[in-house]
Amino acid sequence: MSLKEGLEQLLSVQEVDLQLKSLEEAKSKYPEEISRRQADIARAESSLKLLTDRQEDLERKRRHLERDLDASREQLKKLEARFSEVKTNKEYDALQLEVEACKGKMSEHEGQILEIIESSESISEQVALEKQDYEELRQEQQGRVDELQAKLDALQGEVDGVQARRKAAIQGIDILLLRSYENAKGGRGLTVAPVRKGSCGACYRQLPAQMKTIVRRSKEVMICESCGAIMAWDVESS
Ligand SMILES: [Zn+2]
Repeated sequence: MSLKEGLEQLLSVQEVDLQLKSLEEAKSKYPEEISRRQADIARAESSLKLLTDRQEDLERKRRHLERDLDASREQLKKLEARFSEVKTNKEYDALQLEVEACKGKMSEHEGQILEIIESSESISEQVALEKQDYEELRQEQQGRVDELQAKLDALQGEVDGVQARRKAAIQGIDILLLRSYENAKGGRGLTVAPVRKGSCGACYRQLPAQMKTIVRRSKEVMICESCGAIMAWDVESS
């Protein structure tokens, strides 16, 4: 393959690469938005969990207090049964003190249980509201995430297709020429620029007459002095 043919082939490789680049750019916007929306869902979920954890915690405390209260009730029964066996005033007073202490503990527990029931009720209302909000937010955000993911997948499909075309397009190109193409950087994002009306197709700078001649002959790789693009003389160049 002549250098001239190689340069023409590079122009088609570049066409494919520009398509790839714009697809990759389109793809790059999606992941950030997807993770932002997923983070929104996770945030709402953890705030709801904080609330339900508190609710469960209160339930556990209440069950514990109720068990204590049952035990105290049993104890009180036993204490009261002992009154019939009391023989002295001293014994009576001591027993009376025990009964008072037990009753005091019971009313303390009852008070705590009532407090818990009140807070439980208000938390339950809050949980119900937040669950509804969370469900709405989750559905909305997840719907959008699915949409974005589908778009991303479709773009990836296109990328795969274009990449296959690139593979075919570079077939047979001289490896050194391909390497120069991969390392070069020209104006307007072009790496290889066709010469049009005597100007570099990337930066539009007029080529010196002598350089124009060399490019037309296509015997060596010429780089635009102004923008660094590889100069290619193709069918439309004149
Ligand atoms: Zn140029």
